[in-house]
Amino acid sequence: MLHVREPRTLKKPAGKSTLTIADVTADAALLPAYDSHERIWLGRDDESGLTAIVAIHNTVLGPALGGTRVWPHESFEAGLTDALRLSRGMTYKSAIAGTPFGGGKAVIIADPKTEKTPSLLSSYADMLAALEGQFFTAEDVGLTLADADFLRTRAPNVVGTKSGSGNPSPVTAYGVFLGIKAALRHRRGTESLKGVGIAVQGLGSVGWSLCENLHEESAALTVTDIDTARIEEAKKAFGAKGLAPDTILSAEADIFAPCALGGVISRETIPSLRAEIVAGSANNQLARHEDARLLMESGILYAPDYVINAGGLINVAAELAPGGYNRAAAMAKVAQIPKTLSDIFTRAEVQGRPTNDVAAEIAMERIRTAAAA
Ligand code: NAD
Repeated sequence: MLHVREPRTLKKPAGKSTLTIADVTADAALLPAYDSHERIWLGRDDESGLTAIVAIHNTVLGPALGGTRVWPHESFEAGLTDALRLSRGMTYKSAIAGTPFGGGKAVIIADPKTEKTPSLLSSYADMLAALEGQFFTAEDVGLTLADADFLRTRAPNVVGTKSGSGNPSPVTAYGVFLGIKAALRHRRGTESLKGVGIAVQGLGSVGWSLCENLHEESAALTVTDIDTARIEEAKKAFGAKGLAPDTILSAEADIFAPCALGGVISRETIPSLRAEIVAGSANNQLARHEDARLLMESGILYAPDYVINAGGLINVAAELAPGGYNRAAAMAKVAQIPKTLSDIFTRAEVQGRPTNDVAAEIAMERIRTAAAA
């Protein structure tokens, strides 16, 4: 499945570290998620228990930028597939958002609740430092703002820290909020959220913040999380209706907002969807690219994930701008998300194509133009 390139070990951190970082390449025939990725780094440290994959998909637009996910994938292959798919999504996300970065993503295979020890994070920070100049990272599922701050003390290529642009999640949530309104406007000619039923899957950093925005404009929220305490909190804070995780997809709602993990929209789950719009923060919401066509044929408007959830990327990318971080400039760029989505919705409708195909086409056009320049 993986072949080690030469030299086997890219760079070992100085001192007594037991970390090794290998530059590997994947076998496309065995790994369908492999899409001519430019680089895959594999970090292992038996002492700290670190198994980390950094996948760099495409750097035509600039150095790779993408979050670090800490998740207990059921196998190494599942973690690798996640990293490959997520990094590819980051290439598209950056291209559509107009940020001068390429697509990369890191996955640490570990349980964020029980295995994310200081020693594991230190070891990962050493890996990041060794990749300085090739990969910038920020928080993603399983990594907190405090973790990002900790990593930043050892690796300069960590963004979205307290001393930098701050937590990207509320910015992502705000972009999703604006995107939901754009989808509503496209579908119903009004962006009023009053009484609009929205089913939110996942009440983490982004999902919670999104609920705050939606609640403020009087949306009727139905929520779920695998952490039942979060559901109880949301019931109190937003007057939300709580559902068990396995029933949220078929919830009676106008909009389904996936804000947990990817792969929730598939040919198996689409028939049970009651919502007419799918718009949320989760990366890789579609199990397969073709599922966007199935959504379209089912009369469901899909806001492509890497378009609607670009707020966090825009915010952390702003930290790396030549003049330094400028919050107002970053937010002005986030405010473009609904316009980008509206253009995609219209183009998709006129051409009778899935929104995902149109978004991918725009991203590829930009990358090809940059490559040719
Ligand atoms: P998070 O880890 O803070 O929250 C994820 C939440 O989902 C957790 O509360 C978890 O318990 C819950 N969850 C996991 N599996 C679930 C399931 N099957 N059903 C219901 N709930 C489940 O992560 P986050 O930062 O809020 O990110 C959420 C999603 O948005 C992820 O897919 C992430 O990649 C994506 N995203 C996040 C950002 C960002 O700025 N944080 C930016 C872009 C995309």
